Amino acid sequence: DAKRKGRGLTQVYKEKLLAEQERNFAICQALKTAIAQNELSVLFQPVVAAESHAVVSYEALLRWNSRDYGPISPDEFIPIAEDTGEIVPLGNFVLDAALGQLVRSGYHDNPLKMAVNVSLRQLIAPGFLEAVRSSLARHDVRPGDLVLEVTESIFDTRQQPIISFVLHQLDSYGVEIHIDDFGTGYSSLSRLHELPIHALKIDRSFVHALDTHGKAIIEGTALIARKLGIHIIAEGVETPLQARQLEELGIEYLQGYLFGRPSPKLMESHRIQSA
Ligand code: C2E
Ligand code: MG
Ligand code: MG
Ligand code: MG
Repeated sequence: DAKRKGRGLTQVYKEKLLAEQERNFAICQALKTAIAQNELSVLFQPVVAAESHAVVSYEALLRWNSRDYGPISPDEFIPIAEDTGEIVPLGNFVLDAALGQLVRSGYHDNPLKMAVNVSLRQLIAPGFLEAVRSSLARHDVRPGDLVLEVTESIFDTRQQPIISFVLHQLDSYGVEIHIDDFGTGYSSLSRLHELPIHALKIDRSFVHALDTHGKAIIEGTALIARKLGIHIIAEGVETPLQARQLEELGIEYLQGYLFGRPSPKLMESHRIQSA
C-alpha cells in the first residue's frame, strides 16, 4: 500500500513538473516577441528621504501584458528570461524606457536619479557596459544619476573576476551600484568592502518583521553599512509606524506603498516635496 501511495505521489509530482515546464516553455516563446509586439511597459516607484519624505529617485519596474497569457508577474518571467538569455534585450529595453521617461519628466531642468534592476546574467553579458554608456549618452543623462540594482548574486565566487571588472568600470563612469533584497541571499562582508557598492536595499521581509527579528537584522546591517560608508534604503514600507521605526534606526531612504505604488509616470509632486 505504501508503495502504491508512493508511486501515486511521484505521478502527481511528475505531472505538476510537466505542466510547469510546459508553461515555462510557452512563456519563453512568448517573451521572444514581447518587445516587438509592444507588450512590455515600465512602471516607476519613488524612493524618499526618511526625514523629509522628499522623492530622491525612482525605480523602474518591468511589466508584461502578454496577448496570449495576460499579465505575467516579473517574479515569474524574469527568472525564465535569465535562463534563456532573453533578459539581455529585455534589460536594454527597460534601461532605455527608464532613461527616456526620466528625460520626458523634466530631468534636464530638474535632475533626479533613476534606478534600474539588472540581472547577473545581463551584467556579465558581452556589451553590457557599452549598452549602459550608449543609453546614457543618447538621453544625455549624467552617469551619476543612474543607479543599477543588483542582487547578492554578485558575490558569486566563480564569476568574481568578471563581476568585479564590470562593477568597477561602472563605478569609474560614476554609475551607482545598489544591492537589492539585501539579507535574503549570501553576502560576503569582505566583498562588500572590496566591490564599489553605494547602497543596500534592505529586503521588505525584514521591514515587515520589524516587531520581531527584523529590527535586530536591520540595526546590525545599518551599523555595518555606516562603518563602510554605504547608504541604506528600506523597501516594502507600508505603514507610518514602519516608516517611523526605520527612521529611528537611522535608515536614510524609504520605499514602499506608503510613499507610492509603481505607476506609469513620475510624480509631478516630487519638486514640491523636495522644495
Ligand atoms: P525588486 O527590485 O526588489 O522590486 C520590489 C518589488 O516589490 C516590486 O515588485 C514592487 O512592486 C514591490 N513593492 C514595492 N513596494 C512594496 C510594498 O510596500 N509592499 C509590497 N508587498 N511590495 C512592494 P515587482 O514590480 O512585481 O517586481 C518583482 C521583482 O522582479 C523585482 O524585485 C525585481 O527583482 C524583478 N524585476 C522587476 N523589473 C525588473 C527588470 O527590469 N529587470 C530585472 N532584472 N528584474 C526586474
Ligand atoms: Mg529593485
Ligand atoms: Mg527588492
Ligand atoms: Mg525582489
